Amino acid sequence: MFAIAARRMGYRVHTFSPETDTPTGQVADVEVQASYDDLDAVREFTRHVDVVTFEFENIPVATVDTVAEHVLVRPSGDVLHTSQHRLREKTFLARSGFPVTPFRSVSSLEELETGVHDLGLPTVLKTAGFGYDGKGQAKITSAGEGEAALRALDGQEAIVEAFVDFEREVSVVAARGLDGSFAHYGVIENAHRQHILDVSIAPALVSPKIAEEAVSMARAILEALDVVGVLCVEFFLTRDGKLLVNELAPRPHNSGHFTVDACVTSQFEQQLRAVCGLPLGSTGQHRPAAMANLLGDLWQAGEPLWPAACAFPEVKLHLYGKLVPRPGRKMGHLTALAASAGAAAKLVCAARRALQHG
Ligand code: AMP
Repeated sequence: MFAIAARRMGYRVHTFSPETDTPTGQVADVEVQASYDDLDAVREFTRHVDVVTFEFENIPVATVDTVAEHVLVRPSGDVLHTSQHRLREKTFLARSGFPVTPFRSVSSLEELETGVHDLGLPTVLKTAGFGYDGKGQAKITSAGEGEAALRALDGQEAIVEAFVDFEREVSVVAARGLDGSFAHYGVIENAHRQHILDVSIAPALVSPKIAEEAVSMARAILEALDVVGVLCVEFFLTRDGKLLVNELAPRPHNSGHFTVDACVTSQFEQQLRAVCGLPLGSTGQHRPAAMANLLGDLWQAGEPLWPAACAFPEVKLHLYGKLVPRPGRKMGHLTALAASAGAAAKLVCAARRALQHG
């Protein structure tokens, strides 16, 4: 989607990843397939581009450092380094005064037991690095469960955090330009299923006070990290009306996909503008919107019934060109526009149901 935005504005796009025929590669001018650790290939890649950005966090910092020796990287490797590791990220947030759920670092069963004791049950054990969409995550509800949960992480560095009995989850997708200018898409409300984003609605059904707090926190986080580009802040909204920062994603985010159909400037164009040093575009939203993810599970009974979803005139279909529809894999999404975010959510879910056989 970034590559599409870039091509539309006349940019040439080169993409680098360990795979071929990737969603970006299908749109890009040049697709380079090499391991992120192949620093010679990384250096060669930089010879043909002016600026580099990334679309997911799990890239070794050495790779980004190598890129930065030759060409501009936006956002910087420091932003990536902080946000790709839960412990570094939460430590940065806590030290900078942003509210987070209490957490402890875990590298042994003893540390896990102390952490669980300090935080109280239930807790959530997560790998510190290389986790997303609930991968490498376990809820611990009784003292006896810790050992097995830790064993499942196979010796990876971990973090244990207090379980948050949240009222809802929300996010703010925001952008910061090269000149420090700031833009945001308001507060988005996110429903997850099995730790994977399921449906987002925008604007979120939260009070103006909460919305203002979330946006001003997002702005302060982008400034503290000196971000150039798009960054998404994911929050828990607790039952007593407090916002806690759960996670940062230093790139366009799944919860911001609705912006492609609903806003003057999509989050992808905004990323492009920021990393290319252009002024940010308007984030004005034409109409309330909802987005529903299409996971590989939908393919279980065969190819989904695309015409049935397209029969909803206010629903837009996005498929990413991924060939293998594994369960839990994000294959595409639907966006619906309506008079209210709630009506858009109903519409987008109806369109998604219509995709299924039987
Ligand atoms: P994460 O990968 O940390 O974003 O977690 C994915 C999802 O798991 C979140 O969006 C929540 O729905 C849930 N989750 C993660 N951490 C917690 C927590 N400490 N308390 C309650 N739910 C959590």
